[in-house]
Amino acid sequence: MSSRLILYPVNQLDVSNDKIVETLHQLGMISSGIEHAGDNRYLIGARFLQYITFMGCAPAIELAPLENGSSEFCHVEIGQQEKSLKFIADDTLANPRCPECKESISNWQEQMHNWQAGDLMSCPNCRAKLAPENLNWRRAAGFVQQYVAIHGVYPKEALPTEALLNKLEDVFGCSWDYFYAR
Ligand SMILES: [Zn+2]
Repeated sequence: MSSRLILYPVNQLDVSNDKIVETLHQLGMISSGIEHAGDNRYLIGARFLQYITFMGCAPAIELAPLENGSSEFCHVEIGQQEKSLKFIADDTLANPRCPECKESISNWQEQMHNWQAGDLMSCPNCRAKLAPENLNWRRAAGFVQQYVAIHGVYPKEALPTEALLNKLEDVFGCSWDYFYAR
């Protein structure tokens, strides 16, 4: 079962979808839209592999659409803009760590239930009041309003290059980060 590499602008609420599509086209990250998959999914572009590197030996990544119509191949989805930050977590997420005392926060699921942007969590160990965005989520969760998802990859095997993150920062005027989720 493959996963998604999710790239997102950190704490940025007014990034336009059109500008993301235009930028990824210019970079050669994406090519044509995928038919029958809505209008927000694209085939990878000619320079995709210059911006996303794959670790490990000969990863079994399908770079072209599959004949059986499965969506388990590498393609790019531009997430629709949310009204406020949305929490996305992988189902394999281990406990995040408290940035103050470094202990793991074992009751995070309970605390994140019904979470809305702006709500704080508290550390069961040191009692610190924490913005969940500041916890160490071990690249298995993130807080996004807008995102670019690379589908059909495996966690921690597909990595965005520094050049890509720098380019996105230049164009959008904010840093970008990433995590993995199914
Ligand atoms: Zn703590």
